This record gives sequence, structure tokens and C-alpha cells, in this order.
Amino acid sequence: MNRPKIVILGAGYGGMITTVKLQKMLGRNEADITLVNKHNYHYQTTWLHENAAGTLHHDHTRIKISDVVDLNRVELVQDTVVSLQPDEKKVTLENGELTYDYLVVGLGFEAATFGIQGLLENAFTINNINSARLIRDHIEYNFARYNNEKEDRQDLLNIVIGGAGFTGIEFAGELGNRVPELCKEYDIPREKVRIITVEASPTALPGFDEELVEYAMNYLESQGVEFKLGTMLKQVNENSIIVEKDEQQEEIPSSNVIWAAGVRGNSIVEETGFETARGRVKVSEDLRAPGHDDIFIVGDCALIMDKENDRPYPPTAQIAIQEAEVTAHNLKTLVHGGSKLEAFEPELQGTVASLGEGQAIGVVFGGKKLFGWKASVMKKIIDNRYLLKLGGVGLLLKKGKFNIFTK
Ligand SMILES: Cc1cc2nc3c(=O)[nH]c(=O)nc-3n(C[C@H](O)[C@H](O)[C@H](O)COP(=O)(O)OP(=O)(O)OC[C@H]3O[C@@H](n4cnc5c(N)ncnc54)[C@H](O)[C@@H]3O)c2cc1C
Repeated sequence: MNRPKIVILGAGYGGMITTVKLQKMLGRNEADITLVNKHNYHYQTTWLHENAAGTLHHDHTRIKISDVVDLNRVELVQDTVVSLQPDEKKVTLENGELTYDYLVVGLGFEAATFGIQGLLENAFTINNINSARLIRDHIEYNFARYNNEKEDRQDLLNIVIGGAGFTGIEFAGELGNRVPELCKEYDIPREKVRIITVEASPTALPGFDEELVEYAMNYLESQGVEFKLGTMLKQVNENSIIVEKDEQQEEIPSSNVIWAAGVRGNSIVEETGFETARGRVKVSEDLRAPGHDDIFIVGDCALIMDKENDRPYPPTAQIAIQEAEVTAHNLKTLVHGGSKLEAFEPELQGTVASLGEGQAIGVVFGGKKLFGWKASVMKKIIDNRYLLKLGGVGLLLKKGKFNIFTK
């Protein structure tokens, strides 16, 4: 094979780290590298809840791809992937097609809606920069409308978060800071506004350490967040939701419903015909799609089982980054004519969930619990470390979070 063509789909954590590693690992004449992405920027998905609440501007979250990828070395194709044809080694884009010798699929996640009635039509999801900024503007517009309506439209001031998992909790934390600012801006008494988190499990943050969950709930409640636990979201209407607990249904007015309870892999991988579970492909140890030695799958599109508990690793940025590092290494081996590929072994460094300005909870260093400002500092260190890995000191100085003790 002369100068193999490597095509990387998606400039998320998985696609970007694969690209920047490969541009360092491979010589200029060893391979042609193409990165395909919808936009000319990469965004930090893990900060989108801040953009959606309006506590952080989205320009802070996004990074121009050309700021970290050498475009003399890597071809950037700004286009939308429509479908994959593995048998023909082809990718169909909205505006053309590409062929490849090796493909890396890093197309990320979609919201899993579990068939809840009206959810797709009437709820928002925190998926990307566009959806985050729409949520911010939608909530702000409804607050602006409130004092212009003849009737008391409580639905405009009720914000419902579907799911008290990681994303739902982090978003609630940001709203705890943002809502008082909006109330001041639009002359609305704070006590008129409700932030309601609906969670089907009997606890918030299912699977997290109990003491940390208690801390998170107490803190968020002190910020005015209400929890409806053990409660199913049954239906989302234009101006209300229907929830059910112990077979009793309740209708709650709300025109601000944000669904944050579950993700699945990008539907393109399922439509390709790969065997999937919740849209994620169960990849081999070296991160290739079963039966396709020329296709690597990274990030939220890939499913890897934790041998210790026989459950899939959760889809996280942390795992996407580590998978991308192994994928880049394995591609280098293949380009150099080798065949012995590295197996992926995740090194879990802990989990930290932010609760808003200067507050977080987390478990790090193999089990150490962190609360409050210490966890918040740790969260910023994790965020800054990623920037350093992606684009060195220059990117860290440009986009890093240095307001260590506050927002
Ligand atoms: C609000 C929020 C907070 C989170 N917090 C954390 C956290 O604290 N820690 C953690 O580890 N994880 C966190 N996660 C999860 C983490 O963000 C994901 O696991 C991670 O983003 C997955 O990376 P990825 O590379 O697979 O995809 P993504 O980062 O989603 O990137 C996918 C890329 O593909 C592009 N793309 C998608 N479809 C197409 C197409 N058809 N054509 C072209 N381009 C396309 C997108 O534009 C995007 O650039 C959080 C997620 C959310 C939503």
C-alpha cells in the first residue's frame, strides 16, 4: 500500500486526540490524514452545560481546529457524514465522498429518548454548541416574556431537567447560579422560579458514592433546585410535562424542558450495519470494529466491557481520549507494516461533577472523595490538563480555566 489514506470522522475528544497524535507520530510522507467534521471548530462537550445555562460563553468552549491541527499536514474537510460503506471503503458526505485505507469513527453521541411521548418535539438536549446556545436563549427569552404576558404564565419560569445523572446535576448546578442573574435582569422574584429535576431512580447520581450524592443534593437544594426522585417523565407537551410516581400522575407547567438522561452512539454507526448496543459498537481489544480490520471506533460510538463487573464502561471524555491515544499508536504500527496492535486498558483517574460556581463533588486517585471547593479546583485541573494535552501551553493559556477558586 502506497501512502495509506487515514480518514478520521468527528473532531470530538476521540477524533481530535487521534489526529494530533498521528500528526506527531507519522512522517509527512508516510500517510495522508483527513479529518472530517461538521464545523471548523472542536468543542469541549464537557463544558456544554455551562454554555446552555449561560454561565460561560460558548466561544470559551470551542477551539478552532486550525489552532491545534497543522492543516499543511492534515486535510480538514468541513462536511457532514451521511453514511459509511465499509465494503467499498467509502464514506458518503453531504457534499461528496471519501475513500480510505483506514477509518477512525469518532462521531460521538445522540440523546437517547426512550420513546417518551413528545420529548423529541418539545424538549431540548445538550448536544453541541448550537443546541447549548439555543437552550440559553430559549430560557432567557421566556424570562423576558414573563412580565409581558397578561396571565401569570408559570410555565415560562419553570425549568425542568430530565435526569439527575451526571449531566443533569451539572446543569442544575449552573442554573443555581444563573437563575438569580436572570431574575435580576427581568425583574422576577427568585421564589417564582422553579428548577425541577426529575429522576426515575430512587437516588440522584445513581452509582455515585452516597455521601457525595447527599452533599450534592443538599448543596443544590440550598440553591433552589427541587428533586423529584423515583419519578418517571411520561410525556412532554408544549407547555407542560406529565410525571408519574407510585402510579399517581401529575402535570407540571413548563416551557423549558431539558432532557439530560441518557445518550446513545451516533445513529450512523447503527445504520452502517455494525452490531450495536444502544448505538455503540462492541469493539475488539485493539478498538477495531468486528470483521473490519481497517476501522477503528473511538469515544461514545465504541462499547468496551469492564471485565471486573461485566458492564460497559460509561461513555466519557476520559475514555474517549485514552482510546484515541491507543488508536493513534495502532495506526502508526499498521502504517509501519506491523501487525501487533496494543490492547486498550482504561486507566480510570476518577470522576468529578461540578455543582456550579466553586462547588463540585468527586472521587479521584483510586477512591479519595472530594467535596466543595477542593473538588471544584480538581475539576478545573482536569479541564486544563486536557487543553495541555491537545494543544500545549499556548492553548492552555488561551482557553484554560484559571479562576481556580471561583467560576
Ligand atoms: C454536559 C455534558 C457534560 C459532560 N461531562 C463530562 C465530564 O465531566 N467528564 C467526562 O469524562 N465526560 C463528560 N461528558 C461525556 C463526554 O462529553 C463524552 O463522553 C465525549 O464528548 C465523547 O467524545 P467523542 O469524541 O466520542 O464525541 P464528541 O465529543 O461528542 O464529538 C463528536 C464530534 O463529531 C462531530 N459530528 C457528529 N456527527 C457528525 C456528522 N454526521 N458529520 C460530521 N461530524 C459529526 C460533532 O460535531 C463533534 O465534533 C459530558 C457530556 C455532556 C453532554
